Amino acid sequence: CAVFGVFAPNDDVARMTCFGLQALQHRGQESAGIAVGDGETILVEKDLGLVTQVFNEASLAALPGRVAVGHVRYSTSGGCTWEGAQPHISAIDEVLIALAHNGTLVNTASLRARIYDAGLQLRSGTDSEAAAKLIGKFTQESHHITEGIRRAMQMIEGAYAMVLASPTTLYAFRDPNGIRPLCLGELPDGRGWVVASESCGLDIVGAAYVRDVRPGEILRIDETGLRSVQGVEPRPYRACIFEYVYFARPDSVLDGQSVYQARRMMGRVLAREAPVQADLVLGVPDSGVPSAMGFAAESGIEYADGIVKNRYVGRTFIEPTQELRQLGIRLKLNPLPSVIGGKRVVVIDDSIVRGNTSRKLVSILRDAGATEVHLRVVSPEVTWPCFYGIDTDTRDQLIAANMTHEEMRDFIGCDSLAFISMEGLRASVPDVQNAGFCDACFTGDYPVSIPSSMARDSFK
Ligand code: 5GP
Ligand code: SF4
Ligand code: MG
Repeated sequence: CAVFGVFAPNDDVARMTCFGLQALQHRGQESAGIAVGDGETILVEKDLGLVTQVFNEASLAALPGRVAVGHVRYSTSGGCTWEGAQPHISAIDEVLIALAHNGTLVNTASLRARIYDAGLQLRSGTDSEAAAKLIGKFTQESHHITEGIRRAMQMIEGAYAMVLASPTTLYAFRDPNGIRPLCLGELPDGRGWVVASESCGLDIVGAAYVRDVRPGEILRIDETGLRSVQGVEPRPYRACIFEYVYFARPDSVLDGQSVYQARRMMGRVLAREAPVQADLVLGVPDSGVPSAMGFAAESGIEYADGIVKNRYVGRTFIEPTQELRQLGIRLKLNPLPSVIGGKRVVVIDDSIVRGNTSRKLVSILRDAGATEVHLRVVSPEVTWPCFYGIDTDTRDQLIAANMTHEEMRDFIGCDSLAFISMEGLRASVPDVQNAGFCDACFTGDYPVSIPSSMARDSFK
C-alpha cells in the first residue's frame, strides 16, 4: 500500500493527493481513496480500482478542503473488499478522523477485542480500521488527537506508516522500528507540507524532500506549523530492505539512499558473486532493469532490451489469486526474438517468491530463440513469510523454503541459477543513516515478534 497526506490551505488538496497517489500507484492497485478536511468536517471518496478509475474532475471538485489524506491498497489483511478500502473514518461523538495505513499490524485480534469491549463496531476485517477506531476512542477520552495517537501507538504492534486527517490538521506517524517507509516534504513559498510513502510522491506535487519520519515519531501539521513529538520510544531501526529490491520506485530516495543506485549496485555485486559466460544481459522489467545494467557494467557483457513490458498491466504479484497471477505474467512480458535469438542470455530479476514468474519467463525466452538462459536474482532466497505489509505468503508457498537449489533450477528450467548473498545485498544498500534493516523474509530474524496464532498458520 501507499499513503499520502497534505496540509495546504490555499491549494486544491484533493487534486494534489490524487497526483500523489498516482505516483505511488505501483504500491497497490486494488482500491484508492481520498479524505479531505475543510475546517468543519471530513469528506471521503473511495472505491475499488486504480486512482484514475476512482477519481475524475467531478469527484475531485466535490472534495474541497485544506488538509487531505489518501491511500492506494494492496490487500494484506482482510481481503480485497470495498469495506477494506481506505481512508477509514472514525466518528465517535464529536471526534472525526480519517486514517490511511501502510503496513500490517500483528496484534489485530487483541485490538479488535478491545474495540468490541468498548461497545464500538467494525465494518471490515482489517487491522487499519481497528487502528482508526482505537485512535478515535482514545481521542474521545483524552480530547487530544496527538494523545489519542500516542495511546494507540502504545498498544498496536507491527508495521505501520500512517497519515491521519482531522477537519483541520494533518498527522503522520511511524512504528517504532520504522519498518515501512514514510517521508516528509515541504511545498514552496510556505504553502504547506506533504507526507508520502516514497519521495516520488513528493516530487509529483513539487514538494522538496525534507527527511524521513522517524521511528515512533508523530508529526502534527496545521496553521501554526509543523510539530514533532515522540509517540513511543524508538526501537532499533528496521526499515524494510525489500523496498530497495522490489517495492519502491527507482526514482525514490529512502533514508537518503537512492533506490536506483542501490539496484545498480546489487547487479554489480551479483556479477562478482556469480559470474557467467553469456552474450547478453537482460533485465526483467521494471525492477530488474537497473540491476541488469549494473551486472552488465561489472561483467562487461552487453546489456540489451530483450524483454518488453506492457506498461498498462499491473504488478503480477499484487493480484490476489493464483489464476490471475498466471494470466498476468503472460499479458505483461514479451520477449524480442530479434534481440535474443541464437544468444546465451543472463536474465536479472529482483526476487523469486513462488517461482511462477521466472518459470514462465525462462520458457518464453527459450521460445524466442535463446540458446542458454542463466537466471541471476538480486535478492537472497525468500524463505520466510513477511508479516509487515509485503505479506509474501505462507512458507509452503515459498519455493526457496521447499526446494533444494538444484530442484529450483530444474523447476524454473534455467541453465544456471544464482541468488545474491545476504552480505552482498546489505553491501549494495549502504546504510547511510547507520540504522539497520529488516531482512526477515530472507533470514527469519523478525524485528517484531509474531503472535503464535499467526505464526502457526504461516509457518506451515
Ligand atoms: P513469483 O516468484 O512469486 O512468481 O514472483 C516473483 C516476482 O514477483 C518477482 O519478479 C517480483 O518482481 C514480483 N513481485 C511483485 N510483488 C512482490 C512482492 O510483494 N514480493 C515479492 N517478493 N515479489 C513481488
Ligand atoms: Fe521487508 Fe522482508 Fe521485512 Fe517484510 S520481512 S518488512 S518484505 S524485509
Ligand atoms: Mg518482477
